[in-house]
Amino acid sequence: MDSQIMTKPAAETGTERGSCCPASANGQACDFGSLGGFEDLSGKVGHVEVLQCRQCGLGISTPPIPDVSFLYEGRESQDFQQDGSRIGHAIKRVAFRRQAQALLRQLGQRPARTLDFGCGSGLFTRCLGDVLGDGSVTGSDFEPSAPVDLAGRPYLSMAELDAHKGSFDLVLAMHVLEHDDDPAALLDRICAMAKPGGTVVIEVPNVECAWVPIFGKAWDAWYLPFHRSHFSRTALRALAERQGYTVMAEANVCVPTIGRSMSNVFGGNKGLAWLLAGIAAHPVQWAGEKIAGRPSALRIILRTPG
Ligand SMILES: [Zn+2]
Repeated sequence: MDSQIMTKPAAETGTERGSCCPASANGQACDFGSLGGFEDLSGKVGHVEVLQCRQCGLGISTPPIPDVSFLYEGRESQDFQQDGSRIGHAIKRVAFRRQAQALLRQLGQRPARTLDFGCGSGLFTRCLGDVLGDGSVTGSDFEPSAPVDLAGRPYLSMAELDAHKGSFDLVLAMHVLEHDDDPAALLDRICAMAKPGGTVVIEVPNVECAWVPIFGKAWDAWYLPFHRSHFSRTALRALAERQGYTVMAEANVCVPTIGRSMSNVFGGNKGLAWLLAGIAAHPVQWAGEKIAGRPSALRIILRTPG
């Protein structure tokens, strides 16, 4: 089957935000209630608010932002930030390399060609490339040129991706899907990059994480207005299945968000001290999520139609 990048508006795909609640018996719309106003971290939008479905847990950020690219202009958002300190950078490099190795063990494959869709700072992309071999991992993001951490490695801008559809054995979209108002269309764009029968790994923050009730609006993964969709396990799986992908596996992931969340409580300076505090608190974070069965992030491994 020839994979096509879908460009239909959400209303036509029948997957308009919350129009079909996976937790309802007969395809009714989500039953949204407001979680109230949140701080606008971009300074570009003004009042931002999250609505959450009482049944499936899906959260959506309002007001709607049909084209989010202006939020990332000039790579000024936190998604692209380089570490100011060498120690912070070195710690992340070690952590990302271990994550890359763990991911490959979970997949049980060594893909010849991998695309990291929405590669952000590019540090994870580089670490995965270090493990898989030079030139086999390509990063991609909005900007025309590669981020500093990916300098000298393969990189494609979003605008260049069309020419490479259906050519990757493995496509990763780590903490990407939550950045768009129309996650169905974005999921199709991501999956269209994989070969027919290829593997796609999607990871997103879990809106039902054990730490959300504790940190409230200071929980770092709210990250408004950049995060547009807030997934529960039910909502993520339902989206993937509705778009026609086979769910091969689901996994819980403990993403070190607790240092950043503590930093938000105390005014939002996300420096090295908070990175170290987060590392110190990581065993507590991990144990809390394990006991509650409510991880900070959800990973889903999909197969595209063959
Ligand atoms: Zn719902």
